[in-house]
Amino acid sequence: MRQRKPLVVANWKMNGSFDLVQQMSAALSVLTQPLPDILICPPVILLPHFPKHPNYLLGAQNVSEQLAGAFTGEISADMLRAAAASYVIVGHSERRTLYGEQDAVISQKVKVAIDSGLTPILCVGESLVQREEEKTLQVLARQLDAVYAAQPHLLAHSVVSYEPIWAIGTGRTATPEQAQQVHQFIRQHLAQYDAQAANELRIIYGGSVTAANCEALFAEADIDGALIGGASLKVADFSAICTMAKDS
Ligand code: PEP
Repeated sequence: MRQRKPLVVANWKMNGSFDLVQQMSAALSVLTQPLPDILICPPVILLPHFPKHPNYLLGAQNVSEQLAGAFTGEISADMLRAAAASYVIVGHSERRTLYGEQDAVISQKVKVAIDSGLTPILCVGESLVQREEEKTLQVLARQLDAVYAAQPHLLAHSVVSYEPIWAIGTGRTATPEQAQQVHQFIRQHLAQYDAQAANELRIIYGGSVTAANCEALFAEADIDGALIGGASLKVADFSAICTMAKDS
C-alpha cells in the first residue's frame, strides 16, 4: 500500500479562461472520493474565480523570490496565499530556459514559498542532449543540491516534479521504466539530506501525460502523481487522469 497520497497538478501555463474555470470546477466537484490531491495552477488572475470546493486545491505557476517592494510585474508568496493558493510551481523548465531562472534564484523561491506557507513543487529535468550524453542523473543532482544542500530542512515541505524537457509538450513521454528509474534516483539522492523526508516526499512526473498513458506511470513505485500541461486544459481528460490516480 502506497504511503504517499497521489498529487495531480494542472499547469495551465498562459492558457485558460473564465469559462474553463467554470467547466473545470464543475467537473472536478462531482468526482467522488477517494481522490488524489488535485491541484489547479491557472494564470494567477483566474485564481479568485474558482469556487471553493474540497475536491481541489489551487496553486500558482511562479512566485517572486522577493517578499515585497519595487519589483514590477512580480507577485509575492503572501499575495498568492491571499488569493487562496496553497502550492506554487518553482523552476519549471520554461522559466529556466525562456526567462533565465538559475539554480540560485530557484533555491530562494523554494525558501520564500515555504516561509510564507506555500508548498513548492520544484521542477527538475534534463534536456534531450543531456540525456543522450548520459548526464541525466548529474543534471538532476545539481538541480536538487542547489536547493537542498544548504537548506535540507526544506525537503519535508516540498514536492519534486521530474520533467524531462524533451517530454514537455512534445507528445513524447518517458516510459514508465525510464521515469521510475529517475524518481528512484531522486528519492535516494535526497535521502542524504533527510531520509524520512525523502521517503515521504511526493515525486510527480511531468511530460506529455495523458489519460491514455497515465495509468502505467502511476503504477510505478516512486511515481506519486503527475504534473500535466496540455491535457489539463481538457476537462474530460483531466478528470479521467484524476480518477485513475486515486486507484494507484
Ligand atoms: C508541463 O507543463 O510541465 C508539462 C509537462 O506539459 P505537457 O503535459 O503538455 O507535456
